[in-house]
Amino acid sequence: MKTSSVRFKSQIRHESEKCCLESCSNDDPEEEPPGKRSIYDDLEDEPTGKTATTRYRFFGDIPDDVWNDWKWQFRNRITRVEQLTQFIPLSSEEQAQFRLITMRYPLSVTPYYLSLINPDDPDDPIRKQAIPSTMEMTMGSMGVEDPLGEKKDTAVPGLVHRYPDRVLLVLTDICPVLCRHCTRKREWRNGSWVLSPAEIEAMLDYISQHKAVRDVIISGGDPLTLSTRHLENIISRIREIKHVEIIRIGTRFPVVLPQRIDNELCSMLAKYGPIWLNTHFNHVREITPEAAAACDRLLRSGVPVNNQSVLLRGINDSAEAQTELCHGLLKIKVRPYYLFQCDEVQGTEHLRTPVEVGIKIIEGMRGHTSGLAIPTFVIDLPQGGGKVPLQPDYILAQTEGELVLRNYEGRIFHYRNPIKPAYPELPAEVLCPAGSATVSPPPENRVPVRVRRSSKCG
Ligand code: SF4
Repeated sequence: MKTSSVRFKSQIRHESEKCCLESCSNDDPEEEPPGKRSIYDDLEDEPTGKTATTRYRFFGDIPDDVWNDWKWQFRNRITRVEQLTQFIPLSSEEQAQFRLITMRYPLSVTPYYLSLINPDDPDDPIRKQAIPSTMEMTMGSMGVEDPLGEKKDTAVPGLVHRYPDRVLLVLTDICPVLCRHCTRKREWRNGSWVLSPAEIEAMLDYISQHKAVRDVIISGGDPLTLSTRHLENIISRIREIKHVEIIRIGTRFPVVLPQRIDNELCSMLAKYGPIWLNTHFNHVREITPEAAAACDRLLRSGVPVNNQSVLLRGINDSAEAQTELCHGLLKIKVRPYYLFQCDEVQGTEHLRTPVEVGIKIIEGMRGHTSGLAIPTFVIDLPQGGGKVPLQPDYILAQTEGELVLRNYEGRIFHYRNPIKPAYPELPAEVLCPAGSATVSPPPENRVPVRVRRSSKCG
């Protein structure tokens, strides 16, 4: 199968494709794929006792050693609509629409990740993350290309410097799976690029010269698409910079191609700790034995693994789905770290949820599971405003000496607040924002609370 050619970033020429679904003709002369049912009815069932995937239906002739070779998986990504129809039933109209969508927002799925999709379920939570939707175009006018304003904080090509002590390195825009909700979807149109050696030198120089940088985040596109040797060249150079304390890697490989987390990679990472790895599971069905083994290899190499999921409509937008996901993560010793509000990226509006949904989810989890299983729900503010944590409001009323709080069951408690003179530097509004004594009145079914007011809060 075809793999896209890779260019250095400096070789990229920006191209603008004009593409809109309205211009898509519905009278495509192509026939329907050869019968939606017959594609799947003739396929053998997977052997009993194996993970519930379609691997044995669609890739049954691929021996285990080939299937578990990450380079084979990577080379054989499904990138064209014609290939996709071999696995997922698509009408000729859908095929035509998908061709237009993929001109603007390309398609890429590893055989492994594709095998987790139930092809007969259009609402499959993994399908929705990897397979195009017509809504990427029909709702395409909503949102912006670069909601986080990363371009303006780019200090040298590939290096974003927003906070004094941290820098973000984007070494490539290549990812094994192109997630339909990706914040950097704008980069997909630029072809496949990796930073050139000269660009990497410029980044390393920049970090060396900025002594306040103690945390280097290597993120995506997915940095683990680079060879282990190439990565080691970069990571070892970063490690030589004395003021860099930690290195973080952001990667979705444990989820979409866990075979990449092999012993060679883990041994290399173990040499340059402390290295933290943040990954991106969004649904409990992504936690397969292969993914669990990949995380285990990382942990045994001294690389802690945290999860940053994105809240996605119809995929994981309930307390039940999030609880299942987070319990599954804890079982494989991965810490649920962040639950992100989906950024307002063009082409992702159909996957975004109202902010209240995220707050309700956290409220539905708090008290019903351990705090360890509850991620921090955050919005990454537009224009580089940074991350803001959001959570349910448990303070019903507050005075100088007391808080009125509700717990997860809705029961109300008075909590004596130690007097503040020991902290004269605390401005009154930190603990007692104006008007807070009257915000969040207790719901009718709760015990009414008599709010005491002080001059500061009244
Ligand atoms: S792995 Fe991350 S950077 Fe790559 S497409 Fe998915 S969300 Fe975007």
